[in-house]
Amino acid sequence: MTIIVTLIPGDGIGPEVSKATQDVITASGAPIEWEVVEAGAACIAQFGTPLPEHVLETIRRNKVALKGPVTTPVGKGFRSVNVSLRQQLELYANVRHMRNLPNVASRYENVDIVVVRENTEDLYAGIEHMVGKDAAESIKIITREASERIGRYGFELARREGRKRVTIVHKANIMKLSDGLFLESVRSVARDYPEIVCDDRIVDAMCMNLVQIPEQFEVLVLPNLYGDIISDLVAGLVGGLGVAPGANIGEKYAVFEAAHGSAPEIAGKNIANPLAMLISGVEMLQYLGFEKEAQRVEKAIEQVLKHGKYITPDLGGKAGTKEMASAIIDAMRDNA
Ligand code: NAD
Repeated sequence: MTIIVTLIPGDGIGPEVSKATQDVITASGAPIEWEVVEAGAACIAQFGTPLPEHVLETIRRNKVALKGPVTTPVGKGFRSVNVSLRQQLELYANVRHMRNLPNVASRYENVDIVVVRENTEDLYAGIEHMVGKDAAESIKIITREASERIGRYGFELARREGRKRVTIVHKANIMKLSDGLFLESVRSVARDYPEIVCDDRIVDAMCMNLVQIPEQFEVLVLPNLYGDIISDLVAGLVGGLGVAPGANIGEKYAVFEAAHGSAPEIAGKNIANPLAMLISGVEMLQYLGFEKEAQRVEKAIEQVLKHGKYITPDLGGKAGTKEMASAIIDAMRDNA
């Protein structure tokens, strides 16, 4: 049965890595048909918003989307499309599997961490205002319901993937009420998972631990802002944003997207690494139950990385985005 998936190519390097991902997934034999829609700054002239209603409507209809990065103006302009999408579709869990890949240079070995970030509240609730003209306030929202929900997601994921340890990350020594509530809520969920060790770290100590002993961590559960920052840190432990996949999961819908942004400085040059988006696509195939096709793509990625010729400059190679995608497609054909 053919599954229709919404594809948002995004902007910057988005269209290049999206095309590469689309081509590889199609070549894997997965029976997927793409419904392509645009979001971001380019939509404003025509629809008056960077996230038009028909984009949300196609995801509600298809239930699953693959999304390229979308630029958000800094310090002014429209609200992040990514944050709006996550909030409006209740995509409450941002999940990033970060592990060492063959032949991808990293200072560490044996890193295999899943970052599970709460995706709907915290300082991303978008409640900000000026107090007079020389002061500004951003309100941090933490609720028991959302904290327990992300905690349960983290422990269920640990159980499903056979992981033995979940670490809650917070700053409850300073934000005793908000981060204190997050910590208490996730700890309360931990009682239902006695086979999994639950511990916690203050976010600054977590940063130090991650650069000193990253191989000791398995699943991190964090509020939105720390999750955003720590997931880029963990991406750096395994070779950079070019290889860091991601997924935004809710009860009804799922949007898969790379951890990286639109990287405007390398856009249009055919040098962006397609792997982060492609591995997000592999996770989408697994989510949809196309395990055989997912394995086919994973195996081909591994072969191309081990071979080392058709890899992009961020991995030390000279190949372009298109050449890397073609090499992965060729490897799948050779394996068939
Ligand atoms: P970025 O992730 O775009 O880039 C950070 C660094 O990583 C840059 O040096 C870039 O060249 C490099 N990089 C990123 N992806 C790469 C890839 N696939 N291959 C090779 N190198 C890669 O982060 P930024 O520069 O902070 O943000 C740029 C824009 O992206 C901003 O407008 C930001 O708001 C947006 N953004 C969007 C998303 C999203 O759509 N989910 C996520 C993060 C940032």
